[in-house]
Amino acid sequence: MFSEKAKIHADACRFCWMCRHICPVGLVSGKEGNTPRGRALIVSMDSRNIPLTADAAALMYECCLCNACANDCKTGYDPTVFTREARTMAVVNGLVPPEVEKVIDRAMQGSLYAGEPDSSLRAAIERLPEKADTLVYLGDVTLHQSPEMALDLFKVLKAAGVEFTVLRDERASGAHLGDLIGYVDEVRLMSAACAQRIQETGAKKIVVLDPSDARFIKQQWGAWDLLQPDVQVITATSYVAKLLDSGRLRLRQLPYQSTTFHDPCRLARDLDETEPARRIIVAMGIPLREMFLNRKLTKCCSGAIIHQTDPALSKKIAAGRWEDAAATGADLLITACPGCRSVLGSQAPKGKLVRDIFSLLAEAC
Ligand code: SF4
Ligand code: SF4
Repeated sequence: MFSEKAKIHADACRFCWMCRHICPVGLVSGKEGNTPRGRALIVSMDSRNIPLTADAAALMYECCLCNACANDCKTGYDPTVFTREARTMAVVNGLVPPEVEKVIDRAMQGSLYAGEPDSSLRAAIERLPEKADTLVYLGDVTLHQSPEMALDLFKVLKAAGVEFTVLRDERASGAHLGDLIGYVDEVRLMSAACAQRIQETGAKKIVVLDPSDARFIKQQWGAWDLLQPDVQVITATSYVAKLLDSGRLRLRQLPYQSTTFHDPCRLARDLDETEPARRIIVAMGIPLREMFLNRKLTKCCSGAIIHQTDPALSKKIAAGRWEDAAATGADLLITACPGCRSVLGSQAPKGKLVRDIFSLLAEAC
């Protein structure tokens, strides 16, 4: 059963076309089922005794949950509410597509990815102190797909004289599982185990590298009351921007001139953090050519989940974002998210390059 909230949002969206131009999936697939309205029609049929089918469930997984539609909506509706609940229904009714099911099975075990985290990153974590007031939470995508980003962040924090630790046995925050199966009890329990492990360290400041984890920890863990109120959660980008502002971090100018910045959806839209990354980039002497869809209007590059569940669709969505970047004429695309780095990096057109902001900072320290 869908919640009353999901039904209200679906009934509002099902005859509305107003945000169709903004959906990064609908824009590259051209399918009505890949728009908020298309999904709303399917969800609204459930309360009219036409239940979800396997084909309809598959469409629910062709959404990045990027919130561009909700951000664009002038009437305050949010299609991610009913899309997430439809995923819960798909799981409960055994309608999940097989390729998604494999990813869910892995996520239930704590990672979107098969295999162990990167070994050089693990070795670097072993060399850090076991306890410190500041704990860096890396997240699943960083550990498996973008370990260099973490190593560069470590260099930056050390250059600023920050004492920090990282959990040797870092657990999943629940962000990805929550996107895959909805905010159900299994996800809350996974999150609670992660929160408890963090609290056992006694750290009072949690610096979160992946904006997806940061959004989930700040907002959903907050709703579930999983962290003590005296624990501060801050994104890595905001934290480094504060180090710069306080003078603890000094940077030299870098020579890159032809650059643009891809705002990660979670950072820009969900956490309203668009300027810290730009302050950091300007401090390294790098001029930015802004994409047409920048800051809260950013266009999703597909995200880490679709990259795993539907690589062909992920490739098309990422190509859509590369078109936006190409329109600026920039050769270097900078981002601040391990998922975006991994997805956009794997689809970079010839002659174009992706760098994350921490790799540039490590170069400028
Ligand atoms: S989110 Fe808003 S603009 Fe988009 S379909 Fe729903 S009601 Fe319309
Ligand atoms: S959340 Fe993003 S991908 Fe999903 S329907 Fe809205 S705009 Fe499209």
